[in-house]
Amino acid sequence: MTRGELNAQIKQLLRERHLLTAMDIVSLLEERGLVYNKTSVYRALERMLADGDICRQALGENQIFYELHQDEHDHLVCTRCGRITGVNVVVAMPQMVDSFQVEHHHLTLYGVCSHCRA
Ligand SMILES: [Zn+2]
Ligand SMILES: [Zn+2]
Ligand SMILES: [Zn+2]
Repeated sequence: MTRGELNAQIKQLLRERHLLTAMDIVSLLEERGLVYNKTSVYRALERMLADGDICRQALGENQIFYELHQDEHDHLVCTRCGRITGVNVVVAMPQMVDSFQVEHHHLTLYGVCSHCRA
């Protein structure tokens, strides 16, 4: 398998699952009969991050997730069950903050999901 193929496989998984950890990606690839060592997957993720194809999100309890960059959105994190949902929160974001040029953003909103409130 070439590098490009590994990237394409990772993108496909992220299209199907929204948020995945690096370990999730390694095991999902394995389930599909595609065996890569962790190092190649981590390298591919670093390259895709640098190319702006994916985003890295620290959400919930020390979990680092990857997701596609194409769908820019915010996250609701349930503080009881850990469920994470992608939503679009409409806020007016400034283009510049203290000489810092904003390129994109992700908001994380913590609260209690409908299942936990039921
Ligand atoms: Zn991002
Ligand atoms: Zn919940
Ligand atoms: Zn997301």
